[in-house]
Amino acid sequence: MNYQTEQRKLMQNLFAEHPHEMYSAKDIQGMLTNVSISAIYRNLSKLEEKGLIMRCSKSGSSKSFYTYTKSDGCREYIHLKCKQCGKTAHMPIDDTEILMRNALEHKKFKVDKTETILYGICESCQK
Ligand SMILES: [Zn+2]
Ligand SMILES: [Zn+2]
Repeated sequence: MNYQTEQRKLMQNLFAEHPHEMYSAKDIQGMLTNVSISAIYRNLSKLEEKGLIMRCSKSGSSKSFYTYTKSDGCREYIHLKCKQCGKTAHMPIDDTEILMRNALEHKKFKVDKTETILYGICESCQK
């Protein structure tokens, strides 16, 4: 593996290991050693081209952030997103099934779980 492919692989792993996090180019530079910011931007656009990551924005910031384009492990879950700290969690599979079944039975509504995020306040933010 050449130097550049290796850097890109490292960055890809970083996103894959934290599928719910949003990182700016600077964040990534802080997590990797000896990688120039221009190399990071170059790799980000390569990963974006391949559809592995996508650009997103954070409220209150004009910077560009990048996030992993859903890992396979995420497809089975409905996501619970905390409005306060921004953390995302997975709804337990059993609860997801119940919710989907109820929506179908009562409303003839087929929930697409891969696209569904429920917003609220997480356990630690309620304290
Ligand atoms: Zn997920
Ligand atoms: Zn929270």
